[in-house]
Amino acid sequence: MKARNFRYVRPKSLAHALQILTDAGDDAVPIAGGQSLLAGLNMRLSAPALLVDIDNLGELAGQSRDGDCIRLGALTRHDELIRSDLVREHLPLLAMAAPHIGHVAIRNRGTLGGSLAYADPAAELPACAVALRATLVLRNLQGERHVPAEAFFKGLFETDLRSGELIVAAKFPVAQRGTATGFAELSRRRGDFALVGLAAVATMERQRIGAARLVYFGCGDRPQVAKSVSAAVSGLDAPLPDTSSFAAAVRQDLTPTDTPGLRADTRLHMATALTRRVLNTMSERAAA
Ligand SMILES: Cc1cc2nc3c(=O)[nH]c(=O)nc-3n(C[C@H](O)[C@H](O)[C@H](O)COP(=O)(O)OP(=O)(O)OC[C@H]3O[C@@H](n4cnc5c(N)ncnc54)[C@H](O)[C@@H]3O)c2cc1C
Repeated sequence: MKARNFRYVRPKSLAHALQILTDAGDDAVPIAGGQSLLAGLNMRLSAPALLVDIDNLGELAGQSRDGDCIRLGALTRHDELIRSDLVREHLPLLAMAAPHIGHVAIRNRGTLGGSLAYADPAAELPACAVALRATLVLRNLQGERHVPAEAFFKGLFETDLRSGELIVAAKFPVAQRGTATGFAELSRRRGDFALVGLAAVATMERQRIGAARLVYFGCGDRPQVAKSVSAAVSGLDAPLPDTSSFAAAVRQDLTPTDTPGLRADTRLHMATALTRRVLNTMSERAAA
């Protein structure tokens, strides 16, 4: 199918983009990498009258260190997360997750801000943002507000973004010494959206798992912070021989539903297996 007709504008500055978005209200949507939006337009899932192209706005680009935070501009491409020395050193979870997003062409165009705004429950970056306790920097004509990632995701493809507002950046606390991160997902084919995925952050003392923050994706309507699983694995020594110590907690924290081709029970089984795999890999890396 082809998209319905729309008008297209390429503002020269962030202020101009915000003005256009505010004036047009619900008739306008921003477009960044276009890797999700254009597919939706072609399938006629939405039909905005105006596309506001933010893809060349310098104010939304760049990566920098700002005290104890790394600030990633909304236009940071998925591929930059893999290649950036700053990201690899201080936010290794993002560098681990990004190669799982689609394919090279998608990673070259798709942006961090676009992925967070789109809020696909099976997407990698929203889960990583929640796991890393990122703060999203949102701006409209009135000013800027800062929203923790965990509060930003409200439901299925639903966020805290208001009309006329853009994500300008995400701020991630730099990884502390002694903190390990791990990431894995299961999908039908490499590059497909995850059936189940896990972004994990934990303190590790030798082989012992300390305070853990485990965030699952593909298991609900948004990234799921698994508090019971985190408590169940805390204090355990890795490698974990089996899943008996936390399998019940997975069932407590995650409540997936049956979807075509995948029963909820199978998804829970996959999440349980993935948890052991990720934690054991984290402990192996910490030991090395
Ligand atoms: C074949 C294929 C496979 C894919 N596989 C995966 C995958 O495995 N995992 C995954 O996570 N993603 C996947 N994607 C999607 C990809 O990651 C997108 O790049 C991403 O979801 C959106 O980023 P974008 O810059 O392309 O956003 P766009 O498509 O330009 O925009 C997406 C939405 O976000 C809004 N938006 C964009 N930027 C901003 C901003 N700064 N502030 C406010 N709103 C904004 C737009 O209005 C739109 O509603 C896939 C896409 C394709 C086509």
